[in-house]
Amino acid sequence: MDHKIVTMKAHKNIALVAHDNKKDDLLEWAEFNRETLRQHTLFATGTTGWLLANKLDLEINRLLSGPLGGDQQLGAMISEGEIDLLIFFWDPLEAQPHDPDIRALLRIATVWNIPVATTRATADFIISSPLLNSEYAQRQIDFGGYQARLSEQYDL
Ligand code: PGA
Repeated sequence: MDHKIVTMKAHKNIALVAHDNKKDDLLEWAEFNRETLRQHTLFATGTTGWLLANKLDLEINRLLSGPLGGDQQLGAMISEGEIDLLIFFWDPLEAQPHDPDIRALLRIATVWNIPVATTRATADFIISSPLLNSEYAQRQIDFGGYQARLSEQYDL
């Protein structure tokens, strides 16, 4: 597969998601990092976003609740290049009804090579990275070459 370099802006679009047993953890983490988070544009699944907005007074672009399609909305936004990084505190100890959506979200985040924190420690590393507030040369899959080969094959 071919690759290309895309410039991720210094101002980031950050997605925040937490499963129910992880919501307190995310709230605590976000409160500690509130001033840093405020400098970026924030998105969240429905309930997570509602809590972040109301408890921490953060401006959040809220999507649907995860089990009702919010994870899929985030996946679509990642595919469209509208999300730069994903903070996803998922619960490894409880089955989730929307497990296929969760897997799809993590898969698409990997396809598009965006930074993903699924643990609080990783979230700490990401939020304290100098790359959070600077441009980043992000390597991504480039379908252009594939299309060119198809054009040749089908004589287009
Ligand atoms: P929620 O969704 O923020 O609406 O609880 C989170 C999730 O389970 O994906």
